[in-house]
Amino acid sequence: MLKVFLISALLLLTSQAAKYQRTVKYDNEILIRCPTGVEGMKEFLQRDDVDVWRVTPDGLADIRINKNLIQGTDIILKQCTTIADVEELVQQFENMTASVRLHGQAQQEWHEEYHRYDEIYDWYKELAEQCGERCQFNSSIGGSLEGRVMPAFHVGSPAVGKIYFQCQIHAREWISGATCMYIADSLTNNPEGLDMISKVLDDVEFIFVPLVNPDGYEYTWTGDRLWRKNRRENSGSACIGVDLNRNYNDHWNEGGSSSNPCSETYHGVSAASEPETQNTQSYFKTNGPIIGAIDWHSYSQLILRPYGWTNQDSPDETQLKEIGDEMSEKIKAVFGETYTSQKSIGLYPTSGTASDWFYGEDATSTNGAYRAAGYTVELRDTGSYGFLLPPEQIIPTGMENLAAVLEFAQRLIDDPIPNPNNSHKK
Ligand SMILES: [Zn+2]
Repeated sequence: MLKVFLISALLLLTSQAAKYQRTVKYDNEILIRCPTGVEGMKEFLQRDDVDVWRVTPDGLADIRINKNLIQGTDIILKQCTTIADVEELVQQFENMTASVRLHGQAQQEWHEEYHRYDEIYDWYKELAEQCGERCQFNSSIGGSLEGRVMPAFHVGSPAVGKIYFQCQIHAREWISGATCMYIADSLTNNPEGLDMISKVLDDVEFIFVPLVNPDGYEYTWTGDRLWRKNRRENSGSACIGVDLNRNYNDHWNEGGSSSNPCSETYHGVSAASEPETQNTQSYFKTNGPIIGAIDWHSYSQLILRPYGWTNQDSPDETQLKEIGDEMSEKIKAVFGETYTSQKSIGLYPTSGTASDWFYGEDATSTNGAYRAAGYTVELRDTGSYGFLLPPEQIIPTGMENLAAVLEFAQRLIDDPIPNPNNSHKK
């Protein structure tokens, strides 16, 4: 009896351990925190061999870098503080993740752990099947570079319009995909019986594209936990990957992205050069009118509105600011977490991003009566764990952002942004 138990325990251990195999180690890599405004720092941050994890609204940057690269760079060393050994940080995360998976599947709740590509795909399919007529599962909006399909999930009815969410565009930001699943589940099954959920579902259809970067995401489970880009083999370079969130067809390559394939913000050879970008752009454009859209990221706890490419206010700045500020209030009311609402460029310039594209000219040109209010939301946390957010924070992150999503939807149902190309319509 004991022997049988031991064997099954061992099998469980092996099968769970097989869920995660990392090949890339981060020896000699450290995470440092530096002020962005001091002399020499601007050039330093633009180097293609530094990996900027985040910039705070008050001007600090968390940077992953090889120790050897900063030896002798006096200015940097005097201004920055070391906050972690990267290998140690990743190992801690792996231990946490493994211990959750080892609790045994029976009592394990779906939203208490992170999941692989295949599991996520099946989960959305099943969610739609159980939901019935109000939901739709699209098995593929197109394939990735390595041939993985990108599914979509819909829930609600588009009396006013649609709301589009895309998740996991940056591979290492695991909380993005997990939060989208929490929100999709809550909207579909409404376990708390919230009146507001049934109310918004009468007016809008939510669209989720849960796996925008499936190849990169799988690679974070099988190779490099801290991978960000897709898995493009760049011609003429040994470096892999295009930053999909610099590859959208909106002011592409107009600052805040890199032409170096080795950079974490490499924008690709042309606007929408990547299949993952093309698939999401065309799905968005064939599903209009979309009244609001969010690209879900981590980390930093921010709600970013247009623009990233210019300092100029967008024509809808007043309304977009109000929506962002109110989402931030709703989030705070749940667990007291602060998500800063601001213009995207207030953090740093970016171009070719998904959220500028949602609101921008290309997407608006085919969006019927409305223009999509486009946002980037940076989820938890503010730097204690960064991309390595413990699984126990999935549900709280989901809960506070569900509150924000309901506010977002209701405000846009009440007052959708008219399409300037069809200004005679509401
Ligand atoms: Zn991101």
